[in-house]
Amino acid sequence: QMTIDKIAAGEVIERPASIVKELVENAVDAGASTVTVEIEDGGIALIRITDNGCGILREDIRNAFLRHSTSKIRCVEDLSRISSLGFRGEALSSIAAVAKVELITKPGEDAFGTRYVIEGGREVSMEDAGAADGTTFCVRQLFYNVPARRKFLKTAITEAGHVQDLLMRLALSHPEVGFRFLNHGQEKLRTSGSGKLDEVIYSIYGRDVASNLLELDHRAPGIRIRGYIGKPVITRGNRNFETFFVNGRYVKSAMISRALEDACKDFMMQHKFPFAVLAFEIDGEQVDVNVHPTKMELRFQKQQEVYNTVFEGIHRRLLEPEL
Ligand code: ADP
Ligand code: MG
Repeated sequence: QMTIDKIAAGEVIERPASIVKELVENAVDAGASTVTVEIEDGGIALIRITDNGCGILREDIRNAFLRHSTSKIRCVEDLSRISSLGFRGEALSSIAAVAKVELITKPGEDAFGTRYVIEGGREVSMEDAGAADGTTFCVRQLFYNVPARRKFLKTAITEAGHVQDLLMRLALSHPEVGFRFLNHGQEKLRTSGSGKLDEVIYSIYGRDVASNLLELDHRAPGIRIRGYIGKPVITRGNRNFETFFVNGRYVKSAMISRALEDACKDFMMQHKFPFAVLAFEIDGEQVDVNVHPTKMELRFQKQQEVYNTVFEGIHRRLLEPEL
């Protein structure tokens, strides 16, 4: 079991940002309204994630760290209608296999919290602990037992950059959750959790971008696209400012990027990329969410239709006169 976990971990856990992604998604799944992420040394020495979500019952803790154990799928039918972000039950076992993990958790209905320590897949301790409602994961010394993988990590600055970039996108995909990110105790990102996407965009990208947005709400059968695109005056030099969510999950999609860029082409200088934050609601059966372990690159049943809808919605919005 332990070796298999280590191998499986290689697929899911590439770097500190992969851990942050899995743990933040778990926090969101747990109904947290605030999530704080702290890192030291780019997350290699320490990642600490604190949420005020539902907590984990003591009797469920060991189970949560078992491979393919998830509380999020109860029957086969559920698989086609996954709304929660995580569903594969691999994250905790994978993380615990390649790092030293300390969990402190307390469900609201329990009087005591629990502190659980598991290192390299081996349980170290489980005991009572004073704790606020919710969950804190501390992940220390990533890949301490997998030197071959540790070698592939970049400098702390680069890894911290990956974490910050990821958190920006997670914050954008969940305006209803207040995020804080601290790197070596220094606050790098803070969102209010007000639920307003334009406020998150303001917190992250500043006034220049936030005051030059076009709101978009476009529907076609089986699909709805909402969000903001930047007016052509704030075009960017690279694709990093295109952020997409499908059914609440941050994704990369070359096809959506292409549709967006094709739609903007007539309005922009050549070799420039648009700013866009777009949330897609697509009928669950039309998206294959389980393409890659990190769940980032999606596949659509009807590629061309999705392309057309994105292109049309954006092109039309850019043609509309300003109110
Ligand atoms: P998955 O998210 O795919 O279910 P994970 O390995 O990420 O699998 O998590 C295993 C289980 O641990 C989850 O199904 C959930 O029940 C529990 N869990 C993990 N993180 C949290 C959290 N922050 N708050 C509450 N429960 C959690
Ligand atoms: Mg998960």
